[in-house]
Amino acid sequence: MQEFIDQLPRLAKDKHNENKKFFAKLKKKPPKKLDHIMQDLHDEEFSVTDCLSCGNCCKTTGPLFTDKDVERIAKFLKMKPRQFEEQYLQIDEDGDLILQGTPCTFLGADNYCSIYEVRPKACREYPHTDRKKFQQISNLTLKNVAICPAAFNIVEKMKARLPL
Ligand code: SF4
Ligand code: SF4
Repeated sequence: MQEFIDQLPRLAKDKHNENKKFFAKLKKKPPKKLDHIMQDLHDEEFSVTDCLSCGNCCKTTGPLFTDKDVERIAKFLKMKPRQFEEQYLQIDEDGDLILQGTPCTFLGADNYCSIYEVRPKACREYPHTDRKKFQQISNLTLKNVAICPAAFNIVEKMKARLPL
């Protein structure tokens, strides 16, 4: 797995133009059953890809924290929301709450998340490959294929299953 993760930025770069063209066509004319197809591809991929042997999203990129995330996680850690924000988060140039750095401070050496039950919504949904109307997040997906081996594989299988 680590070898594949190390190669991902280069593999994603090699596929970038092809993926960009594919998503442009997908956006223009999304197949009727796209939601269904994506759910299948997502389930198939995550039945063989174990996030605990990867953790690359938590190591290299961080989620945005909504107010609800902050309240829920602070409560779990028995902290006040303000105290949680001061200790763990910062505001980025867009005004969003993000981690102070990567790897995520809640990621353990065994790739377990110490706040898993209450983790941010963005972490729960990453890499968003089972999202409805998947064609709407093509720019995000173009970035995610360089980070997430599962997202990379899903996009490759998507292109094979949906020749546009
Ligand atoms: S909160 Fe948990 S799931 Fe989210 S980035 Fe950190 S370790 Fe990963
Ligand atoms: S979601 Fe993707 S990048 Fe994150 S741990 Fe799972 S396979 Fe790795």
